[in-house]
Order: sequence, then C-alpha cells, then structure tokens
Amino acid sequence: MNNKRNSLFAKIKRTLFSILPVSQKRKGECVDCGECCKLFNVCPFLKYKSDNKSYCAIYKIRPLNCRKYPRTASEFVTSDTCGYKFKL
Ligand code: SF4
Repeated sequence: MNNKRNSLFAKIKRTLFSILPVSQKRKGECVDCGECCKLFNVCPFLKYKSDNKSYCAIYKIRPLNCRKYPRTASEFVTSDTCGYKFKL
C-alpha cells in the first residue's frame, strides 16, 4: 500500500472530495475485504463475520467517504484486495 496515499492528510482530502461524484471509470464491486476501513486508522465500526468477510456496523448511516470509496483512481489505495478497478 502506498503510504503517501494512506495518510491522515489523504484521508481528510478524500473526505472533503467525497461530495463529488464517483469516477465513471470505476468498475467492479465491493468484495467486503475491509481494507478501506483501515485508512488511515482502523474504523471502530469495522466488523468481521465468521467467513472473514467484513461488514460495517453502521452501514446505513456510513459517511460519504466510505460510501463512495474508491471514488477515483488517484484516491485508490487498496487495489491489492479491492473488488473495484479503474479503466485506463
Ligand atoms: S477496499 Fe474495496 S472491496 Fe474492500 S471493503 Fe473497501 S470497497 Fe470493498
């Protein structure tokens, strides 16, 4: 994982820009790996089921930053495990 993009500054930036739309180049779907819930710190609402899939304890009211991740290719930090990809 790129440490520069997994920083407090990057998280604040993602949060501020989360009011903008998700890139049309994003394809795929969430596979519940939970890795985006650890950026920059592990979210206290991140939980795991017995099959090791993650879920959010406040899913219905989760913030925009979480709803839209990964919003753009430049904000994408979890490509190793994420089910989303960006078309070039
Ligand atoms: S990193 Fe991607 S696949 Fe994993 S929980 Fe976040 S959006 Fe879902």
